[in-house]
Amino acid sequence: MSSVLIIGAGGVGGVVTHKCAQVPDVFSRIVLASRTIDKCEKIKQQISRPVETARVDADNTTELVELIKKVSPDLIINTALPYQDLTIMDACLETGVDYLDTANYEPPDEAKFCYKWQWDYHERFKEKGIMALLGCGFDPGVTNIFCAHAANNHFDEIHYIDIMDCNAGDHGHPFATNFNPEINIREVSARGKYYENGMWVETDPLSVFKTFDFPEIGHKDMYLMYHEELESLIKNIPGIKRIRFWMTFSKEYLTHLRVLENVGMTRIDPVDFEGCKIVPLKFLKVLLPEPSSLAQNYKGKTCIGCMIEGIKDGKLRKYYIYNVCDHAECYREIKAQAISYTTGVPAMIGAIMMLTGKWKGKGVFNVEEFDPSPFMEKLGVHGLPWIEKIIEA
Ligand code: NDP
Repeated sequence: MSSVLIIGAGGVGGVVTHKCAQVPDVFSRIVLASRTIDKCEKIKQQISRPVETARVDADNTTELVELIKKVSPDLIINTALPYQDLTIMDACLETGVDYLDTANYEPPDEAKFCYKWQWDYHERFKEKGIMALLGCGFDPGVTNIFCAHAANNHFDEIHYIDIMDCNAGDHGHPFATNFNPEINIREVSARGKYYENGMWVETDPLSVFKTFDFPEIGHKDMYLMYHEELESLIKNIPGIKRIRFWMTFSKEYLTHLRVLENVGMTRIDPVDFEGCKIVPLKFLKVLLPEPSSLAQNYKGKTCIGCMIEGIKDGKLRKYYIYNVCDHAECYREIKAQAISYTTGVPAMIGAIMMLTGKWKGKGVFNVEEFDPSPFMEKLGVHGLPWIEKIIEA
């Protein structure tokens, strides 16, 4: 019986709140806090179990500490933005509370993300006797756990990993992003990067692509991008020779993005507008639909998984593990779209792992450092069944 404080009442925060409410024997008390209290109230009204709400500015550690002392939670689930990771981790250190998130820290004024900033908290979390679990969404998150599961059960050596994220859904808008628009556009417009033979190789943004036949979806073009799980997986899974991340985009999405980039609307530096300083990308975010608002009419499926190659019993092996998730089914269940759903369900399961002591540690950890089995057992139960195939043995 545990008390959980969820920070960030957006698309993902809504799913985490709904899903925690479905497991009352673990989450006996749920508090949802965010910058805009109305968003917490809206989610609360969708849920039949009691959910408490609060307003907090998670950029402000003092405010966070006050709220944490008042709520006294056993765990904080951060579903706000990557900008808030460090202030929330600071508040956890000050109050001695465990921490979980789904995306690694990113400084607001530089479109760059890496784990170093959060890994640097390891010794302080260890000394304080508390745990931080980083990147417990789908990718990062389940994709890392899929790799750990493959390493434990299907390979003696893993050489090549391709993480492939396909969203073949249609939300009916000419252009919208499936998670926070600012974070999404910063990620997609960045240079690509993958790891090969001990080195990072950089590519121009979205310049490398190929077609893949996704289960239950069909052929889609997917584009090579840099993604944070590459950084932790090369550290935690020994012997990787190459690891890449791929994501599908529709032609319409790419055309809009190119135009927005060309006219300067994706810039993250402030520009002068009639005497005010505005950041074009932040302004664009205000104009674009909220990720949670896409859910109602979203149709189609996502398919996210890992293609892994290596050696088993002296022979080459190719193996594919994936989940397929249906936007409309997510809406029917908890009024969410599949991107928020596939992120929020793993965050809730990660919280179960921590609160029931299945995953224990003092310090800062990535999900693949723990036994994947108890987590994998819960995925199907809570709405994200997985399928694995040995393609060539
Ligand atoms: P949304 O924009 O829908 O939600 C973000 C929420 O955080 C909003 O409610 C926002 O409040 C709140 N917030 C922002 N700043 C603050 C602040 N300073 N204090 C308190 N609350 C704040 O985004 P998503 O739900 O789509 O994404 C949430 C997170 O999940 C992001 O970090 C994203 O990168 C991550 N993610 C991870 C994935 C994975 O698979 N690992 C996949 C998809 C997303 P307000 O509305 O008032 O601005």
